[in-house]
Amino acid sequence: MKVLLVEDDVTLQRGLRQVLNTGGHQTVLAQDGLHADTLLKTENFDLLVLDLGLPRLDGLEVLQRLRQRKQNLPVLVLSARDQTEDRVRGLDTGADDYLGKPFELSEFEARVRALLRRGQGATVCIGALEWSWESRQAWIGKTVMTLSQLESTVLESLLQSPGKIIAKTALARRIGEDGIAAADNMVEVYIHRLRKKLAESAAENAIESGLEIRTVRGLGYMLQELQPGK
Ligand code: CA
Repeated sequence: MKVLLVEDDVTLQRGLRQVLNTGGHQTVLAQDGLHADTLLKTENFDLLVLDLGLPRLDGLEVLQRLRQRKQNLPVLVLSARDQTEDRVRGLDTGADDYLGKPFELSEFEARVRALLRRGQGATVCIGALEWSWESRQAWIGKTVMTLSQLESTVLESLLQSPGKIIAKTALARRIGEDGIAAADNMVEVYIHRLRKKLAESAAENAIESGLEIRTVRGLGYMLQELQPGK
């Protein structure tokens, strides 16, 4: 997913960008309101993370212009203005969610995930695979795949950007613990297990899985839909 992150506090920006990149997202940065407004007019994003106190153009003004243009991407507002009145104004102007500073990065990550899920619809289908963002369950044909939590995390990361390369290091961070990335060979183990389970579920249903997890040497992995008969 492509996320526009608008935050003028450099330290906070760095932390948030890391969370987004770890989640497998492509992050574009803007440090003032005017720059954000221009980017929103010229590029497509799946999510806007917007600070309110910004140089050159206030965050609320950015939000107002966005909604006036009938752009309906989800917006997460970040602000130190955590008074109820500001919160209400933000939500009235068209924010989908609001985080008062200071906040935990884990809270930020959870809100981002929820907003992107809402924007994506309840499920995604690639080949014969169906995935529910809500329950984090996968089906092939009529069979629910039995996945461990970390296998689900890897599959979810790949499903967030099908057809795009997900760096091995990004996956290692996703399955790591306490902010420490897992070893590269752990990623290989989980990818191997996922491939095996996808193939087994497809065989069980006597269908083609219609997708593959490709290894892109030296870079990472890509989930790809296959054309029938290939
Ligand atoms: Ca600010």
